[in-house]
Amino acid sequence: MTHPAPFHLETWAVHLGREVDAATGAVAPPIVLSTTFERDADGSHVRSFTYTRDDNPNRRALETALAALEGGAVAVALSSGNAATSAVLSALRPGDHAVLPAHSYYGSRKAAQIAQAQRGITVTLVDMRDPQRVAQAMRPTTRLVWVETPSNPLLHVTDIAAIAELAHRHGAWCVCDNTFATPVLQNPLQLGADAVTHATTKYIGGHSDVLGGVVVLRERGELFEHVKAYQVSGGAAPSPFDCWLLLRSLPTLPLRVRAQSERALQIARFLAEHPRVHAVHYPGLTTHPDHAIAARQMRGGFGGMLAFQVRGGEAAASKVAARVRLFTRATSLGSVESLIEHRALVNPDDHVPRDLLRLSIGLEHTEDLIADLAQALAA
Ligand code: PLP
Repeated sequence: MTHPAPFHLETWAVHLGREVDAATGAVAPPIVLSTTFERDADGSHVRSFTYTRDDNPNRRALETALAALEGGAVAVALSSGNAATSAVLSALRPGDHAVLPAHSYYGSRKAAQIAQAQRGITVTLVDMRDPQRVAQAMRPTTRLVWVETPSNPLLHVTDIAAIAELAHRHGAWCVCDNTFATPVLQNPLQLGADAVTHATTKYIGGHSDVLGGVVVLRERGELFEHVKAYQVSGGAAPSPFDCWLLLRSLPTLPLRVRAQSERALQIARFLAEHPRVHAVHYPGLTTHPDHAIAARQMRGGFGGMLAFQVRGGEAAASKVAARVRLFTRATSLGSVESLIEHRALVNPDDHVPRDLLRLSIGLEHTEDLIADLAQALAA
């Protein structure tokens, strides 16, 4: 299902999966906590629900909405972003090869490395900013090319259409982690990807109060069967309340993400001019090496995530993080409150510079956020 014409994304974000409850007239959907559903006298389930791990009204509503927002045929909601990644990796068999970005959310690479150690698949990590390197990494056994763009935490941008075309030429799936961009700014399925994943914990949830993941697929083919089996038989299903919270957040998703993107761009420009900052990583800056690709494949903004490097190394970065008053020092991203994270403290990833501070821009006023960073950098 693509965005059903003639409405716009904002309209669908409000209405998809939110029909008025037929039994009660409730406008906000009820939360169906029941784990089991009554059989009819003939033994069937004409009301279509049987058992909540198989399907649940809140989960179905969320999946319907997310499939439509990403322009996919079907969505599978999972219990975390990592569960979404692992559900895709579960499609790989011993002897299969997967190509993943060298620079990406370290948890996704870790999940692939665990699959490599336990299930006899092989993994190659590649700098995906250069499609030539991906081409060189492809093997006859390559079944999966994983893309994450913009990437966490360095904001690298990958050309989704080029990588999808390359993957398909070799008979592999192209799956894109769209957590940073959200369907508001980027639709990888329209650019050729076979599936999109999200940590719905982040922008889709948007309030730092629910953990979740989703895989949205272009079609109900083999990859879907594996992901669905991971959800139902693997038991990685989200709770009805988590699905309800995520659906509750969808109507504001376009507004939140665009406002966060506008603020992030202004903050990136401020930081780029600051004498104590020696690098700013934000694809919305025209000086970003991947700006042209980002401008081509994203629309209406470049997202609410950015990172910057402070002169003076790790200790100086640590002091800036210690001095902020409005930003909260915490991991995660995509919520209404702005967060700052000194990645050297939390990330066992050697690719990340020790002086890198990652910002998740929330919905506070831009001037207040800039003033906070200015005082933290000035001291
Ligand atoms: N993908 C990306 C890009 C992320 O940033 C994260 C978490 O930070 C994940 C996946 C994993 O999500 P979760 O923490 O919900 O498992």
